[in-house]
Formats: sequence, C-alpha cells, structure tokens
Amino acid sequence: MMICEDIHKALEDLPLWREPSRELPENGLYFFYEAGEFNSHDERPRIVRVGNHPRSRNTLQRRLRTHYSGSKNASVFRKFLGGAIMRRRDPSHPCLKPAPGKGHWERQDEKTCPSCKPIEKDVSALLRSGFSFRCIEIVDMDLRNTMEKKLIATLSNCPTCGPSDDWLGKFAYSEKVVKSGLWNSNHVWEDLVLTKSELHRCLQGDRERL
Ligand SMILES: [Zn+2]
Ligand SMILES: [Zn+2]
Repeated sequence: MMICEDIHKALEDLPLWREPSRELPENGLYFFYEAGEFNSHDERPRIVRVGNHPRSRNTLQRRLRTHYSGSKNASVFRKFLGGAIMRRRDPSHPCLKPAPGKGHWERQDEKTCPSCKPIEKDVSALLRSGFSFRCIEIVDMDLRNTMEKKLIATLSNCPTCGPSDDWLGKFAYSEKVVKSGLWNSNHVWEDLVLTKSELHRCLQGDRERL
C-alpha cells in the first residue's frame, strides 16, 4: 500500500466536520476534503489541504474559524479560494491584475476593494457548502510542524492522486496548487518522506519526537 493511501485510510474513521466546533482539539492538524475530489486509491474523498497552527499553542479552533469566517489577509487558504473563484468567473478580473499572485486580492496585506470585498462572503459560503474536514490532535509543537511538512510533501508527491478535471484549484495563482491538487503551497513537492510507522505513531498519540 502506498503511504498516500495509508494516510487517507487512517483518517477515514475520524469524525468529519462541516464547520469549526468547540469539541475539536486545541492542538493538531486539520485535513480538508472537497466535493467532487476523490483519491486514486479507493475512490473515497481526497485530502485537498493540510493545515496547522505552526507558531502558537492552543489555536487550532481559532485557525479553523479564521478560515471559515475571517478575511483573505488572515488566511492563505481564503486567498487561494477567492482568487480561484474570481479567475474562474473572469480571467481578466481587475482585482487579479497585473498577474497571478500580483493583484490586490492575492497579495498579502493588500486591502480589498468594493468589487472583491463581496468575494469574502463567497469564500465563506463555499467553505460551508463544498468542504469538510477532519482533525488529529498533536500537542507537541515540533512534532506537529514536522508532521505537517511531511504530510503535505507526501500527499503532493503521490504519483497517482490528483485533481479532477474541473477542480476549482486549477484557477489558483500558485502553480503548486494547480498541479498538486492541494490548496497548499508550502512544502508541496519537498523531498520529505513520511513513513508508515511515523504516521501510525502520530495517530496513536505517541508524543515521541520523530
Ligand atoms: Zn478588488
Ligand atoms: Zn495518493
């Protein structure tokens, strides 16, 4: 079994969430799934984003709330989603000019204008209607950060999983998103390998350092 298949299978028994909840762990990683996206191994839902709260403790729930109802400057995930929504509707959308990643919507810390401000609502609505997620608890920050990198690298390097033909992410500004099928850019295609024993030790709550 390929490690990517192991990752998908290992998560399948965990609860699937449609929105942030106080019942979620305070420390851990999250894994998003998206309507219409399936993995190549068992044709069940494909992980489309792995995320973390890398530099602070007890903020996993807050991080998820920021994705669901924050703003594009507080969440690269929202920046990717909103940019892709706009580019799919209108490839020459003025808020995306002069080039992918260079317009005011897609640049970090640039303000929205009256024509892209409503996209924030579209992003929030899309997250609620088209996405769901699972979480694993990892209290140790170093272990959590290591696992995030290795999971993203491993999923992006899977030779058989990829986006569906009409995946929204194909309109994202980042080539890494477009080609990997993940709404991630950091750690995509990095030369890191997650082993099965690391995966299972982590899921079993073993706090031993990797
Ligand atoms: Zn704008
Ligand atoms: Zn795969």
